[in-house]
Amino acid sequence: MPGMADVTGNTLNAALIRTAFLASMRLKALQNRTAHSYLMMHSLAASLEMFKPGAIVPWVSYLFPTEILSSYGITPMIPEIGSATITGSDLREAAEAAAARMALARDVCSYHRTALASVENDMLPAPTMCLGTTPLCLGKEMLLEMLAVRHDVPFREIRVPLPPDEGESSPEVVADVAEQIRVLHDDIGRWTGRKPDLRKAVVLSNRASKAWGEIMRARLAGELELNGRKTFALVFLGQLLWGTAEGAKDFERLLTERGRRDLVAPTPPPGRPLKKLLWLHTVPHHDREIFDLIEQRGATVTFEEMGQMHEDLIDPDDPFPGLARRLTDHTLWGTSARRARLNVALAKRLKVDGVVHFNHWGCRHGLGSVPVIRAAFMEAGIPFLAIDGDALARGGPNQEKSLQQMESFLELL
Ligand code: SF4
Repeated sequence: MPGMADVTGNTLNAALIRTAFLASMRLKALQNRTAHSYLMMHSLAASLEMFKPGAIVPWVSYLFPTEILSSYGITPMIPEIGSATITGSDLREAAEAAAARMALARDVCSYHRTALASVENDMLPAPTMCLGTTPLCLGKEMLLEMLAVRHDVPFREIRVPLPPDEGESSPEVVADVAEQIRVLHDDIGRWTGRKPDLRKAVVLSNRASKAWGEIMRARLAGELELNGRKTFALVFLGQLLWGTAEGAKDFERLLTERGRRDLVAPTPPPGRPLKKLLWLHTVPHHDREIFDLIEQRGATVTFEEMGQMHEDLIDPDDPFPGLARRLTDHTLWGTSARRARLNVALAKRLKVDGVVHFNHWGCRHGLGSVPVIRAAFMEAGIPFLAIDGDALARGGPNQEKSLQQMESFLELL
């Protein structure tokens, strides 16, 4: 993204760069006509709006119920997506240098470190409000609260108790979280002076959920093989557009072969079925090597833990309990025992040959549960590998070791 630093502001130059960059993405989407290319174009268009002076910029956590923003025509700024975008652009070096200068521990999750350095150096727009959810991790709540203090804007947090290890969260817990979301939805209207249309946002969100749910059901039933790394990227970006007309249309494009043709799994050589892997936690966004190795050795990431979201529909006439349930019973929320139980069940259902956990540097939430997850997979007799890395890195000291570990793991399979 040459000159992306200049996209900020209201200068003619910034506006021209925005227009030119969007035009190139639009052309790509029109040529490819796939869900992914349209999602990229629409999420970029919505995000660039946030760089304009006077824009409303809510910094929110990854699992935030974005429909209560779409209700007001507002796009979320999600630090994880912002950091992955910046580190994949020409601004990478500037962001890394800025992060290294900050008085911040090196073992802070790099999504947070990069986001903080980027906003403090005008590479991401400053917040007008910071809205968190306790799922998935406390680190990002700290980041959001700190940003709110520094920029003197409201900080609010939807507090979600841990779900039970077995079964669902109680109706009382769901009702409490629903009430917090309802109050926050009202507050956003008060802060911005905009009129809501939550019903419309939920109807649009449901269209996307219905399409994504169908795709996920077909994958789970073994009727559809997709590339788990690419579907991860799709869901990751899609988080910006849930509850919008663009998001609804883009997810619906997945229902045609043409719309999902850039997500298909590699074709196995005749007579040699691909070994199937389940991928847990985040992915290295910029390093292809590990995935290239997996393909070269006749395997494929058939499913990703993080893709399991927003598959259930929400009642447009009473949306808050449905939005709450997505948080209270999210597959990645809860104890390590719960996460292990759900993932072992998922691996058995998918009949995978092995499971890979990506140990993203600095993620207490992800790394903390690895010993319990490893033990659960060992007990189930399913091969399990945990590889160290940084989701935003390119190369680096861990990469070679991870490649060796992956090579041995694939040989074992
Ligand atoms: S990778 Fe871990 S620490 Fe970083 S934002 Fe995600 S859950 Fe939080």
